[in-house]
Amino acid sequence: MTKRIVLIGHPVAHSLSGAMQQAALDAAGIDARYELWDRAPIALPGAIGELRDDDFLGANLTIPHKERAVPLVDRLTEEAQATGAVNTITREGRRLVGHNTDVAGFDVALDRLVGRQKMPRQAVLLGAGGGSRAVTYSLIRAGFQRIVVFNRHLHRAEALVRHFARSAAHMDLKAMPWHVSIIESELARTKLLVNATSIGLADDASPVPGDILPPDLLVLDLIYKRTRLLRDAEAARDTAMDGELMLLHQGAAAFTLWTGQEAPLEVMAQALSEARAGGLRSAEGEPAGDGDETGSQTEGETGGQGVAGADDSAETATAGATAGAGASLGTGAAAGAGSSGG
Ligand code: NDP
Repeated sequence: MTKRIVLIGHPVAHSLSGAMQQAALDAAGIDARYELWDRAPIALPGAIGELRDDDFLGANLTIPHKERAVPLVDRLTEEAQATGAVNTITREGRRLVGHNTDVAGFDVALDRLVGRQKMPRQAVLLGAGGGSRAVTYSLIRAGFQRIVVFNRHLHRAEALVRHFARSAAHMDLKAMPWHVSIIESELARTKLLVNATSIGLADDASPVPGDILPPDLLVLDLIYKRTRLLRDAEAARDTAMDGELMLLHQGAAAFTLWTGQEAPLEVMAQALSEARAGGLRSAEGEPAGDGDETGSQTEGETGGQGVAGADDSAETATAGATAGAGASLGTGAAAGAGSSGG
């Protein structure tokens, strides 16, 4: 019987994960289909409930469901518990296990970005959604001593800081209001800037003005295209990298969890770059305003999804053009030291 793996999100159309995971399943000779399920938040409990059936190997979760999925599974792994976010589900019989493979994906991306330099100890993190939680956890584990989280809605950054109170007890994890002057002064004393907002995904906006970027910064944008932020960073003589390597490695970790097999990284990387060249975007971050069906969010919808598209959706679009410009991924080529994404 053909097994099923689903990506649950809202929206999920044009997912890069679909191309990447189906290519991996086919290459490994696994009789399974990777399906995209567009489910509004109100339908999430029902969708996750369906996964208990025998024909499912598991699922991925994306915007806006990662945090909401936490109470809907039977057990959480350490990463899912620690982050309060689930991006992968596996089955143990009829029980569901929630994992967070974004952490492993970010670990790889960070290592590649830092390269031979000493791992920095201070970071500025923009955004406080599910992706940001994975980044925060990874940075804490990597030994960072100071992380300042800026978010448009400060309360969400404060909730993130409270969530990590115990694991960050030994270091300085702070939420700060989104003011350019405060971000600028924090950047002056940091080495790493991570964008975990969806600003720049649907249009060519940047979360911060280019002229506040100091030189010699390491800049990682979780969005997997050559965003304005990354271009500005290169112009400021920073080292810049997009989110493609993170996407690849979170996907590879999920593949292994579902199948018990090592992921065919080269195949997945190839499928990703073909999908990018073909103009597909990942459901990992498609903003709400991008697909017209998402405009009317269900009740209880908070920031992440509803916000991104609200503002500049008129300029949507650049997925094809910008994506194609991204770094050829390969499993080893993503880091764009000073020149990401050609
Ligand atoms: P969430 O929906 O959980 O969070 C979205 C974040 O973006 C929030 O901090 C939100 O702020 C902020 N934001 C959105 N629009 C605006 C705006 N117009 N102005 C200011 N802030 C804004 O999404 P995720 O955390 O899951 O994803 C965030 C980004 O990270 C996406 O672009 C996604 O593609 C990327 N990502 C990439 C991954 C990869 O593998 N490369 C993995 C995970 C995420 P507020 O709370 O104030 O609304």
